[in-house]
Amino acid sequence: MKRLVFHIDVNSAFLSWEASRRVRDGKDDLRLIPSCIGGNPEKRTSIVLAKSIPAKKYNIRTGEPISMALRKCPDLVMAEPDFSLYDKCSKAFIEICKSYTPVVEQFSIDECFLDMSGMERIYPEPIKTAYEIKDRIKSELGFTVNVGIGSNKLCAKMASDFEKPDKVHTLFENEIPDKMWTLPVSELISVGKNTAVKLEKSYVRTIGDLAKLSLQNIQSIVGNKFGEQLYYYSKGIDESPVLDVPSKAKGYSVETSFEDNITTREQAHKVLLSIADSVAFRIRDDGAKAYCVAVNIRTNDFRNKSHQRHLDIATDITTEIYSISKVLFDELWDGHSPLRLMGISLNDITREGNEQMSLFSASDKNKDKERKIDKAVDNLRNRFGTAIISRGLNSENTARIDRKHKAQFENKRKSNNGSKQ
Ligand SMILES: [Mg+2]
Repeated sequence: MKRLVFHIDVNSAFLSWEASRRVRDGKDDLRLIPSCIGGNPEKRTSIVLAKSIPAKKYNIRTGEPISMALRKCPDLVMAEPDFSLYDKCSKAFIEICKSYTPVVEQFSIDECFLDMSGMERIYPEPIKTAYEIKDRIKSELGFTVNVGIGSNKLCAKMASDFEKPDKVHTLFENEIPDKMWTLPVSELISVGKNTAVKLEKSYVRTIGDLAKLSLQNIQSIVGNKFGEQLYYYSKGIDESPVLDVPSKAKGYSVETSFEDNITTREQAHKVLLSIADSVAFRIRDDGAKAYCVAVNIRTNDFRNKSHQRHLDIATDITTEIYSISKVLFDELWDGHSPLRLMGISLNDITREGNEQMSLFSASDKNKDKERKIDKAVDNLRNRFGTAIISRGLNSENTARIDRKHKAQFENKRKSNNGSKQ
């Protein structure tokens, strides 16, 4: 059976979502002025998470400190990140997509694949259907998306990345030579900066150049496993199915993807703090706690990695989740691969109110203090909205908790190693 896949990608998601809320409230449209999403401008410690097209003209880059962005463009309008808004907008557009096909794979907070195979009777004209989905999201939710259409996930995703915003593109088999082979090789999905450099050194400049090489040739440049993937990708071949995974009802997760990559540990830690803050707020809001904290990352060659830690005592404390995530992240990341996406998930959930007595009872006083801070922040947020307050970094408290977790993990590892021997 011939497959048909749509890839739907929200244009500048965080910025569009904030902009559409402001437009609804009768305020200026952030998409039309130099603007960005980034933490509290007064603190000037936060980084740019997303930017408008007019801000791009000032050479403002995702991941750079707000203070630097302001030097490039003093009139830059800033909005604080609001992950609960993003969550709502994400769910809303996925819901619309699900009304067209039952098989929807959410690929990140602002991207999903739709398996439209075998639906010719209901939707005889796929391009018309794609326009309908795009226009419905725009009119009902107030933000724009790109829709890519192809016979597999790779081609659909490549197509949605063509001209933006608010566009529908196709990349069918017969269009591959014209629309895909002419692109620079760095545009091929899964080709990161390092791979592109290696390929260019071997005179592979376009995806078409790559498609002409033999499997052995490509493998000799980038290695066997990745070489095989690139061999097929360059020809537009991808057999991976659209996975319709039910949302994890039991866990809590927040993730964020970046248009430009995150490249330094300092930036990454700041992003982790804002994610930890958001996911912790949600779990507390539900009166739950987690026994397992996991961090996941996607590097710019589209490799996903994750790392998790089980805890003896369930937690819902922001600084604790942040500090565990940081340890996990530092173990997970090689320190140089550019990052496309970062996320934290809290699993193994408990709703029992009484916390198991801690063996580290000395630290309980500190935990109480952390809880009081969390409670105060949550109250403010529940009254005035999630954007009212954001966390600062490097407080004395965070440093103390960091030391505690590093030591605990070290001990655990030692005892695990000991028991294996
Ligand atoms: Mg997007």
